[in-house]
Amino acid sequence: MITLLSGGTGTPKLLRGVRCHTTDQQINVVVNTAEDVWISGGHLSPDIDTVMYLFAGTLNTETWWGIAGDTFLTHKALLDLGTDEYIAIGDRDRAVQIARGELLTNGKSLTEATTILCRNMGIKAGVLPMTDSPVATMVRSSGEYIHFQEYWVRCRGSIPIDAVKRVPESPPPATEDVIKAISEADAVIIGPSNPVTSILPILECKGVREALREQYVLAVSPFIGLAPFSGPAGELMKAKGFPPSSLGTWELYRDFLDLFVQDKRDTVTVPGAARLDTMMTSEEKSRDLAKGLFGLMEMHYG
Ligand code: GDP
Repeated sequence: MITLLSGGTGTPKLLRGVRCHTTDQQINVVVNTAEDVWISGGHLSPDIDTVMYLFAGTLNTETWWGIAGDTFLTHKALLDLGTDEYIAIGDRDRAVQIARGELLTNGKSLTEATTILCRNMGIKAGVLPMTDSPVATMVRSSGEYIHFQEYWVRCRGSIPIDAVKRVPESPPPATEDVIKAISEADAVIIGPSNPVTSILPILECKGVREALREQYVLAVSPFIGLAPFSGPAGELMKAKGFPPSSLGTWELYRDFLDLFVQDKRDTVTVPGAARLDTMMTSEEKSRDLAKGLFGLMEMHYG
């Protein structure tokens, strides 16, 4: 069994490759939920949705969110009615969010709701929300904290930010399923997801770092030089007080990490790191990176 910690872009790209080397039944994915929001009556869990759609074979892999070929009729109609739906939600994507919202409103936990949705989508891998407690990533801009989605989607990441926090501030408990998936795995891979908004929220869940310290853990850097491959990871690292680089990423994980993997072109040096081609610009490149990581694991286990 292999367990990955994931956000909604970098690690799903790697998962696409991991699936070429093992069966879905052998994969568990612990997924960030700190970007979840209720919107237009549905429950949006962007990272869980991306991972579920990937396994279901329906993901839009041009954008790495939403369902391929989805339509936006309801979104357009809602805007015409004057609602403030600042995230463009596709029609079939919305059906998932409504179904999840119903399950949660009727007393299911997020883990239970995700299990039901996965079963109904024919997904064989384990898709595990990091916690069943609501938690949100907030960023500070001009002295005021706003939800990460407001910053990244509504404001398109164009406003300056100088601090990041989780609300509530006391760490939520990881679910039992998450701790089990980490503890019972042959290895854990932290994919090249955004350290501050995707991976740290998982690491902050009670019990996760302790479980990782007992495991063989590899992490792949989402940075080359002083810039991420994509997205706001650099700004968020700076707002959190860490260098926006592989070195900063490694510092966040080093207390439990066994092997850090950087891109072969990265100009920043991390002591003891392995080097691979981590630019997953195609399915083939995702597969090659996954193969390289499995090779490193085999070397470790002899
Ligand atoms: P989010 O939830 O959409 O922010 O997605 P993630 O947190 O899972 O992934 C975002 C991170 O993925 C960004 O920091 C990117 O730098 C990284 N990323 C995207 N594509 C690649 C890639 O091909 N290679 C590597 N190494 N990182 C990538």
